Amino acid sequence: MQSAGVSCLINMAYSLAVHGGAGTILRSTMTPELEAAYRKGLDNALNAGTLVLSQGGSAVDAVEAAVASLEDFPLFNAGKGAVFNHIGKHEMDAAIMDGSNLAAGAVSGVGNIKNPVKAAREVMDKSGHVMLVGAGAEAFARECGLEFEDDAYFYIEQRYKQWQDAVAEERVTLDHSEKKFGTVGAAALDSHGNLAAATSTGGMTNKKFGRVGDSPIIGAGTYANNNTCAISCTGHGELFMRSVVAYDISCLMEYKGMKLNEACNLVVHEKLVRIGGEGGLIAVDKFGNVSLPFNSDGMYRAAITSGGLKMTAIYKD
Ligand code: ASP
Repeated sequence: MQSAGVSCLINMAYSLAVHGGAGTILRSTMTPELEAAYRKGLDNALNAGTLVLSQGGSAVDAVEAAVASLEDFPLFNAGKGAVFNHIGKHEMDAAIMDGSNLAAGAVSGVGNIKNPVKAAREVMDKSGHVMLVGAGAEAFARECGLEFEDDAYFYIEQRYKQWQDAVAEERVTLDHSEKKFGTVGAAALDSHGNLAAATSTGGMTNKKFGRVGDSPIIGAGTYANNNTCAISCTGHGELFMRSVVAYDISCLMEYKGMKLNEACNLVVHEKLVRIGGEGGLIAVDKFGNVSLPFNSDGMYRAAITSGGLKMTAIYKD
């Protein structure tokens, strides 16, 4: 869907956008109960982030709080409810970026960390590195005192079934016929004029052991820069990595002077489509404008601004 931009107000005190993934999300296959549940998950995340922003808190704290809320919500593919990889494990990825100083932190291929976005935040704040993976990332999260859960916590029957079906059909993840990219993310502008973005995911069902997607890759699935915008992506990670989606949008704004919507629409509806990259993203610019473009059937998305906008949507129309 071409994004016409949700708002064009200048100098708003704060803006927040969240997503719960893009893909084959059709009204015809949704029940009212399930739709209400998804909307509740998005609302919870908006509330968690707004609580931070409305009190003058930082964009980084807001996106961390919003993404942690989405990770705790079992219907989304991140934290509790993360998809199974080919060997029946949850291997999760997350990233966070502070647009005020270009600080960034990410974890990849981690198991049992209750909130991978919190681990990404610790990496950014305390490790002296940008990305930690696997056992090293888990050990670091333990040192930081983060919460761990056993495998049963992450198990959701529906995800297990999706994985079993994929295995039975010997479906390669990348040929996934039922494309649902349930990754979660948030992008925010705070009242101090700082931007931040965060993304968290279980990746793609039946993905190869060790596979990393775009979500934890700074500049691909996650990026924030006070000069331009904050972005969190969802979609077919390999294509988003090859297109360096989030950084490309920032560059189009910084070097070509494009407006947020113009840059987002060019990348999502033209550049990604040209190479078969399905998905979408949420973006907030330094003026508080919000853009929520996607080229799939739907994207779980919501946004709020201190200027009075509040919206939640799922489908194309
Ligand atoms: N982009 C994620 C990945 O490829 C999947 C998603 O957005 O749901 O890992």
